[in-house]
Amino acid sequence: LTEKLQNVFKNLRSKGRLTEDDVKEALKEIKRALLAADVNFKVVKDFIKSVQERAIGQDVMNGLNPGQMVIKIVNEELINLMGSETTEIQLQPGKAITVIMMAGLQGAGKTTTTAKLAGKFKLKGKKPLLVACDVYRPAAIKQLQVNGEKQGVEVFSMGENHKPANIARAAIEHAQKNGNDLVILDTAGRLHIDEDMMAELEEIKEEVEVHQTILVIDAMTGQDAVNVAKEFNEKVGIDGVIVTKLDGDTRGGAALSVKAVTGKPILYVGMGEKLSDLEQFYPDRMASRILGMGDVLSLIEKAEAEIDEEKAREMTQKLKKNQFDFDDYLESIKQMKNMGGLGNIMNMLPGLGGMGSKMKGLDDEQTAEAERKMGRMEAIIHSMTPAERANPDILSPSRKHRIAKGAGVDISEVNRMIKQFNEMKKLMKQFGKPGKKKKFGFPF
Ligand code: GDP
Ligand code: MG
Repeated sequence: LTEKLQNVFKNLRSKGRLTEDDVKEALKEIKRALLAADVNFKVVKDFIKSVQERAIGQDVMNGLNPGQMVIKIVNEELINLMGSETTEIQLQPGKAITVIMMAGLQGAGKTTTTAKLAGKFKLKGKKPLLVACDVYRPAAIKQLQVNGEKQGVEVFSMGENHKPANIARAAIEHAQKNGNDLVILDTAGRLHIDEDMMAELEEIKEEVEVHQTILVIDAMTGQDAVNVAKEFNEKVGIDGVIVTKLDGDTRGGAALSVKAVTGKPILYVGMGEKLSDLEQFYPDRMASRILGMGDVLSLIEKAEAEIDEEKAREMTQKLKKNQFDFDDYLESIKQMKNMGGLGNIMNMLPGLGGMGSKMKGLDDEQTAEAERKMGRMEAIIHSMTPAERANPDILSPSRKHRIAKGAGVDISEVNRMIKQFNEMKKLMKQFGKPGKKKKFGFPF
């Protein structure tokens, strides 16, 4: 999906103005790409309609080219589609026990996800109890026990000869005595939606108070996953969805459709078989991931608001000609400060704000450290002569020594900065070609 969309945008990028035909052509391609990615047909139709309504007749914003303008709109609509906000699993207040019931078809990833969630909540200071309510396969109980042990959380099971609803009740009594404040019921799935399964889940709900019913769906099953979600929501009622196996699914269609079809948010996404491979769901980051450009777009937007247009254009010109020098570097540091602090910017840069484990970007301490470094960089640049700033290639070892002295830093820091400056140049170039997915570090 990402690749196809990028081709659409590549074609648009070369356009000077956004005509109705351009938009229509692009939307046709986007539609095709979404359908090929298994996004629900009706969702695609509505999506295209809202993008079209917004795109046609809209002026291209200053500083953006037509391609970027369409990217901007598509990006915003993708985020809307997925629910805009990150949704947390609602826990009961204080020490009260929260009961979560996991539901889903067989093989969707319920048992694995149960253990993954337990790990997440344990880190947050909860004391989870995992409950083996899948009584049809002895292996399922064993699987939960093994995973629970790996996570260092207790697993409650009564073997195969009890009804799931009764096991759930007994588990909650156990939790009360045992001081567990979170009970996660791992239920049995079936290969297809069937009455038995739904009845079993309803029975559990009647027997005990379930605070959150979380549906687990397998992204690899595409359209089916979303139909399943719809059925579960109508029959049992769900509070949220976890989409698993997104690591294997490059199409991402299920993640896109869930919210629109069920009205229920995606809470987490499964990104692998390891018990640590569960990530909070951020609609904006998912949109960026689908578009394949980090959050470059937000950066463009923000930069636009703050950076003097003329300067931005000049800088772009220089970047294109590869003439970006230390004066520009100094200028860009200033602009970044204007844009509300480094922490903010870091979060928006592709590769840093991406889908990795550092989803939250930098903490305050790291931001402060980065800002101190930035200050030293400014000092170093100030210690350069205008000629050196304009032409970094002339920086000989003796010049570097003089600069280090002037800035009151170690020569190694000057060397590092020059290296980072060169990386910065590379990084800035990336802005022009979002299609390339390279990992790079931010130069500060
Ligand atoms: P259940 O029948 O719903 O309980 O599903 P399981 O938890 O047993 O998972 C079925 C298979 O999917 C197992 O082999 C898991 O390792 C695998 N699995 C679960 N979640 C993910 C995920 O996010 N990514 C990948 N690659 N595999 C997953
Ligand atoms: Mg299972």
